[in-house]
Amino acid sequence: MIRRWRKRDLRRLSRGLRFRLTASYAILFSLILIGVATGFRLYLQKTLNEQVEQDLNDYWISAKGGYLRIFWDRGSHQYFADWYYDDTDPDERTLVGEIKKVFLLTDRHGNVLLDYKTKERQISSTFEDIGIDKAAIRRRIEKFQANPTAPPDWDTRRDSDHVRYRIRGGVILNPETQEPFYVAIGESLDPNDKILARYTLFVYSLVIPGALILGSLLGWAMAGSVLTPVREVAQTAQRITGSNLSLRIPSRQADDELDYLILTFNRMIDRLDASFQQMKQFSTDVSHELRTPITGIRGQLEVALFTAKTTDQYREAMFNALQDIDRLSQIVRALLLLSQAESGQLVLQKTRVDLGELIEDLAEQFQIPAEAAGVHLSADAPRGCFLTADRVQIERMITNLLSNAVKFTPEGGRVKVSAFAHDDRIEITVEDTGRGIPAEHLPHIFDRFYRVPGSGTAPVPEQGLGLGLSFVAWIAKAHGGSVRVDSSPGEGTRFTITLPMELQEAGSLELAGQPAGS
Ligand code: ADP
Repeated sequence: MIRRWRKRDLRRLSRGLRFRLTASYAILFSLILIGVATGFRLYLQKTLNEQVEQDLNDYWISAKGGYLRIFWDRGSHQYFADWYYDDTDPDERTLVGEIKKVFLLTDRHGNVLLDYKTKERQISSTFEDIGIDKAAIRRRIEKFQANPTAPPDWDTRRDSDHVRYRIRGGVILNPETQEPFYVAIGESLDPNDKILARYTLFVYSLVIPGALILGSLLGWAMAGSVLTPVREVAQTAQRITGSNLSLRIPSRQADDELDYLILTFNRMIDRLDASFQQMKQFSTDVSHELRTPITGIRGQLEVALFTAKTTDQYREAMFNALQDIDRLSQIVRALLLLSQAESGQLVLQKTRVDLGELIEDLAEQFQIPAEAAGVHLSADAPRGCFLTADRVQIERMITNLLSNAVKFTPEGGRVKVSAFAHDDRIEITVEDTGRGIPAEHLPHIFDRFYRVPGSGTAPVPEQGLGLGLSFVAWIAKAHGGSVRVDSSPGEGTRFTITLPMELQEAGSLELAGQPAGS
């Protein structure tokens, strides 16, 4: 089907990368070609002209060196030119013929001399056409008299047909009287001009346009093959949607810029995919977490409505429902905080925090629940250990760790919280002699809603939301620090948080769904 090109198509084509690549390639290519062709033309012209000048120098030497003599005729009282050569020798005859082609011999006033034997005027017909410049001849003679070793005159003149001639002018002396005579020998530049004109026509109207067309076609094809992968990348990118994030652009294994682009693009999709998965997981987890207390409340309300008879039974049902509502609002509060953290709304309030004092306060607060659980709690943090950080968040972080440590340590166990400065960093550790975390769960404990299986069989207060460590990881990361966990089941767990003393401008405050820095 023949498609008619519309103005819009043309405009789009001319804006396309392929067109622009080809156009710039063609422009550059033609500039180089024109430059090289012009350079070569100048070189050719110079070489041809040098050849002509070389010929003229040879003629001059032959004429002055022996073929041409000027002598004084006592009889007629005038000077004559005498050509002295062997007329039967074809070489000598040709050479003298060449010299005489464009030739002029005059006295110091510009008057043409005669040949002694033939009485011919010593001016060739071409020179008659070119014309005698008597003033120039007189100047030349004067110049010679002032400086006999002055270089010859070079001149380019035209005849009536506009043919150019290169002319060498100089002075020859009569050996007896030392009278100077002006001699000019010339050669036509017409053959050279014709060569140059043919070269110009051939190169500029044939070679350059031809090379340009060929080069543009080649450039168009090359740009097309270079841009094909770019088009493929764009097509794949178009197919990638929120529900189709598993698609990747295959690498061309060329290890070039385009492969780097593809790699970067694929990594971006990886990250998008991970965030999408995280979001999906998050909403699944949230609905699951909300369903449990809602089912509980519904159950308790049904008990109250249909089966409870005594006041105590009503009270118990109401109490249980209230507990579920508490859990529900805890979840909602935690989720709100999480979403604020994720969307960057939770801005860190920087203050100078005395970590020693803060840890001491927190250890004091936790003494009561620790004692109730029969756990020995100790703190080891020197006062004056300063840190620039958000006090509320640091408190929340240590509280979460301490409450876990106390919660997961059986009676008779020990919990210790300590902090110390190390170069420009501060290390906070919370360690316990509790039940520990099995190695296979360690990579997940910082995930949202993740609880080590088996916790479910534990008494109710132990059933946390599974969000505490997510916050710990987020807070550490937001402060430019990291969390590490070491644990051996049955022996205990140690969480180590490393923070910079001076809070840096936190880069990304998003909450990682994975162990932060561990
Ligand atoms: P939770 O609200 O359940 O405590 P966290 O995110 O704080 O949620 O902790 C996730 C899980 O990691 C806990 O359910 C628990 O199984 C495990 N865990 C956390 N801290 C400790 C600890 N000190 N000792 C043993 N297990 C721990």
